[in-house]
Amino acid sequence: MKYYIGIDLGGTNIKAGVVDEKFSIVSKASCKTNLPRAAEEICRDMAETALKAVELAGLTLSEIESVGIGTPGTANSADGIIEYSNNLGFLDFHVVEMMKTFIDKPCFVENDANAAAYGEYIAGAAKGADDAVCITLGTGVGSGIIIGGKIYSGFNFAGGEIGHTVIDPNGPQCTCGRHGCFEVFSSATALVRMTREAMLENKGSIMWKMNEDDGKISARTAFNAMREGDRAGREVVNKYIKYLACGITNVINTFQPDILCIGGGVCNEGDPLLLPLKELVAKEVYTKNSAKNTEIVIAELGNDAGIIGAAFLGLSH
Ligand SMILES: [Zn+2]
Repeated sequence: MKYYIGIDLGGTNIKAGVVDEKFSIVSKASCKTNLPRAAEEICRDMAETALKAVELAGLTLSEIESVGIGTPGTANSADGIIEYSNNLGFLDFHVVEMMKTFIDKPCFVENDANAAAYGEYIAGAAKGADDAVCITLGTGVGSGIIIGGKIYSGFNFAGGEIGHTVIDPNGPQCTCGRHGCFEVFSSATALVRMTREAMLENKGSIMWKMNEDDGKISARTAFNAMREGDRAGREVVNKYIKYLACGITNVINTFQPDILCIGGGVCNEGDPLLLPLKELVAKEVYTKNSAKNTEIVIAELGNDAGIIGAAFLGLSH
């Protein structure tokens, strides 16, 4: 059996896992990222966390094939450099070179959303596809594009930012500066914003009552209210799905992937999200009269996608 190390570097936690050649995670370890810190210190912690995972797996480094790192920001996978990460404070950080001083194995780096998409592609919901796009609905809208088995990130490694394509130029402003990005309408954050707005406009609704009871509004609130028969809740869900379908249709019209995979907490809603979404997309796509259409599926690997994808980055280039 061959083993690979995958590291998921985040703003809050550094997670590392040992993954076997059948894409199963054998062991995991993690530590706090503790920002702000020097890049060198973060790299040392990544290496130590990885070594801890190797130990927990009952293995030694001699049994490890390679190390892969998924990081927020722009990762130059050809040269092994994190060119820029606003979140982590990296600027032209030669991460592969430094990682090799701690763990002397082939090492690869990639943007975290791309690594997670690659995980779903090799071992999760997009397995078996030639071309796939994976979209994660979280704080923002993350995305990764796989074409013919390779991660596509453009000439400057900054491509595949589907969350920052505009759906409505008159929409609310996005963190990127533009107005009405896909992310501004389809992230979990956006769903919470729409829910809050609808509550304020519908103070007689079940949603408003739920808010008065527990004071917390989440991405689940509108779905829960809808299940209790609340009209305002249903309207929020319908509006959210309408925007999501618009963004997804844009992606399908652009790439026509075999599989389009959506993930993130919102997808735990299951059929009440997925069925109307599929119906709307089927009505809107350019190829609606074609026998062959993109299959829309829910991500399977959850938070493990980043570790699994990172572990196999050596295959993605
Ligand atoms: Zn944007």
